[in-house]
Amino acid sequence: MDDPERLGEVEVRFIQSYLAGKDYICPNCNRTIAAGTGHYVVVPVEAPDLRRHWHRGCWDRCTKR
Ligand SMILES: [Zn+2]
Repeated sequence: MDDPERLGEVEVRFIQSYLAGKDYICPNCNRTIAAGTGHYVVVPVEAPDLRRHWHRGCWDRCTKR
Protein backbone atom coordinates (compact mmCIF):
# COMPACT_ATOMS: atom_id res chain seq x y z
CA MET A 1 0.00 0.00 0.00
CA ASP A 2 3.03 2.24 0.01
CA ASP A 3 2.54 4.79 -2.72
CA PRO A 4 5.87 5.99 -4.12
CA GLU A 5 4.44 9.44 -4.64
CA ARG A 6 3.62 9.67 -0.97
CA LEU A 7 7.10 8.76 0.18
CA GLY A 8 8.61 11.99 -1.05
CA GLU A 9 12.17 11.89 -2.22
CA VAL A 10 13.58 8.37 -2.19
CA GLU A 11 16.86 6.72 -2.93
CA VAL A 12 16.45 3.50 -4.88
CA ARG A 13 19.16 0.87 -4.80
CA PHE A 14 19.17 -2.33 -6.76
CA ILE A 15 20.16 -5.40 -4.76
CA GLN A 16 21.81 -8.00 -6.95
CA SER A 17 20.49 -11.52 -6.57
CA TYR A 18 23.71 -12.80 -5.02
CA LEU A 19 23.49 -10.08 -2.34
CA ALA A 20 19.88 -10.86 -1.39
CA GLY A 21 20.54 -13.12 1.57
CA LYS A 22 17.09 -13.29 3.11
CA ASP A 23 13.39 -13.06 2.40
CA TYR A 24 11.58 -9.73 2.41
CA ILE A 25 7.96 -8.71 2.07
CA CYS A 26 7.16 -6.39 -0.78
CA PRO A 27 4.87 -3.57 0.47
CA ASN A 28 3.15 -3.31 -2.87
CA CYS A 29 1.84 -6.85 -3.31
CA ASN A 30 2.50 -8.16 0.24
CA ARG A 31 4.23 -11.20 -1.17
CA THR A 32 7.61 -12.58 -0.31
CA ILE A 33 10.70 -11.57 -2.20
CA ALA A 34 12.60 -14.82 -1.92
CA ALA A 35 16.23 -14.81 -0.90
CA GLY A 36 18.39 -14.81 -3.99
CA THR A 37 16.02 -12.62 -5.99
CA GLY A 38 17.34 -9.33 -7.35
CA HIS A 39 15.11 -6.50 -6.11
CA TYR A 40 15.02 -2.83 -5.17
CA VAL A 41 15.53 -1.21 -1.79
CA VAL A 42 13.65 2.06 -1.56
CA VAL A 43 14.90 4.45 1.12
CA PRO A 44 13.00 7.66 1.87
CA VAL A 45 15.61 10.40 2.13
CA GLU A 46 13.80 12.01 5.06
CA ALA A 47 13.12 8.74 6.90
CA PRO A 48 15.78 6.12 6.14
CA ASP A 49 14.31 3.86 8.84
CA LEU A 50 11.32 3.32 6.59
CA ARG A 51 13.27 1.57 3.88
CA ARG A 52 11.36 -1.11 2.04
CA HIS A 53 12.25 -3.92 -0.27
CA TRP A 54 10.26 -4.03 -3.49
CA HIS A 55 9.97 -6.51 -6.34
CA ARG A 56 11.47 -5.07 -9.49
CA GLY A 57 8.20 -5.45 -11.33
CA CYS A 58 6.16 -3.81 -8.57
CA TRP A 59 8.42 -0.78 -8.36
CA ASP A 60 8.59 -0.40 -12.10
CA ARG A 61 4.81 -0.58 -12.39
CA CYS A 62 4.32 1.98 -9.61
CA THR A 63 6.81 4.47 -10.94
CA LYS A 64 5.88 4.30 -14.61
CA ARG A 65 2.45 5.84 -14.77
ZN1 LIG B 1 5.74 -7.02 -5.10
